[in-house]
Amino acid sequence: MPNTALYSLAGKRVWVAGHRGLVGSALVRRLQYENCTILTAPRQQLDLRQPEQVSLWLRETHPQAVIVAAAKVGGIHANDSRPAEFLYDNLMIEANIVEAAHQHRVEKLVFLGSSCIYPRLAPQPLRESALLTGPLESTNEWYAIAKIAGIKLCQAYRRQYDCDFISVMPTNLYGPGDNFDTMQGHVIPALMAKIHQAKVSGAETVDVWGSGRALREFLYVDDAADGIVHILKHYSAAEHVNLGTSEEISIRDLAGLLARVIGYRGKLTFDTSKPDGTPRKVVDTTRLHGLGWQAATALQPGLEQTYRWYVNHHLAEQRAIA
Ligand code: GDP
Repeated sequence: MPNTALYSLAGKRVWVAGHRGLVGSALVRRLQYENCTILTAPRQQLDLRQPEQVSLWLRETHPQAVIVAAAKVGGIHANDSRPAEFLYDNLMIEANIVEAAHQHRVEKLVFLGSSCIYPRLAPQPLRESALLTGPLESTNEWYAIAKIAGIKLCQAYRRQYDCDFISVMPTNLYGPGDNFDTMQGHVIPALMAKIHQAKVSGAETVDVWGSGRALREFLYVDDAADGIVHILKHYSAAEHVNLGTSEEISIRDLAGLLARVIGYRGKLTFDTSKPDGTPRKVVDTTRLHGLGWQAATALQPGLEQTYRWYVNHHLAEQRAIA
C-alpha cells in the first residue's frame, strides 16, 4: 500500500458538488475526518446546469479540490423513461464544473461516473480498458454516454492543460440517503420500500422486476465515500479507476436477502414484462486494490444499516411532513 499520499487534503477547501445526494452526503460525512474545509452549495443558489453560476461559485469560494458527485440519477425505469434529462443535465453539470475548475485553477478534481459506462456484453469482471469496446446497454445508454463524456473531459483537460483531474467509476451504490421511490429508485431502495410496505400492510406477494437472474454488484455508500477520498489522495492518471467489491449477487437472491432483513414472510414474484437491463455487471478491482483500498461492509450488514436508516429517518421524516 502506498504510504505517502500524492495529494494532501490538509488545510484545503474541498467542494462536494451534489452534497445532498446519496454519494455527496456520504462524502460530507467522510470528509469530516480530514483536516479540510468542506464547501457545499445550496441548490437554490447554484444551478449546476448554468455555466455562469458555476463559474461564479468557484470564483467566490475558490476550492482547491472538487468532487463531482452531482448528477441526475435513477434506476432502470427512470433512465429509460427520461432520456433527455439524463443526457442533457449530466453533460451540462460535468462540462460546467470541469471548465470552471480549470479556469479557477482547482488543484485536484474527482469526477464520479458509474459502471454502466461499459459495453453491455463486455467480459466480466469489467476492466477499465473495456471502455468503448462495444455497444452499451440500451436502458441506460443516455446516462452512460454522459458519464463517458465526463471521463473524456477529465482526460482532455489533463492532456491539454495539465489539470490533475481524475475519474472514479463506482459500481451500484446503496445506503442511507438513497432514493426510496418505488418507480424512480434503484433496485435496493425500491425493493426495500416495496417489501416494507408489504410487511406493514400484510400483502401476500411483492413484485420484483425482471427474471431475477440479472447479476449485480453493490457497494455500501460510506465505503464508496472512503474509497473516493483514498483515490483522490493516491491516484493521478488519465485512465479512470473502478470502485467496487468484485462480489456479485442475483436479483432473486438479493430480493430474498432483503425479505429476511426486513422480516417479510410473503412470496416474491418475478414480473418478466419488466426489463432485466444488463445481464451482468461486476467491476474488476485490480487497479483499486493496487492503490491499497478495499471495501469494509459486507452486503447483509450494509442492508441492515440501510433498513434501520429507512425506518428511523426516511419514514420518520415523511410522517413528520404529512
Ligand atoms: P441497473 O443496474 O442500471 O439495471 O439499475 P437498477 O438498480 O434499477 O436495476 C437492477 C436490476 O434490478 C434490474 O435487473 C431490475 O430489473 C431489477 N429490479 C427488480 N425489482 C426492481 C425494482 O423494484 N426497482 C428497480 N429499479 N429494479 C428492480
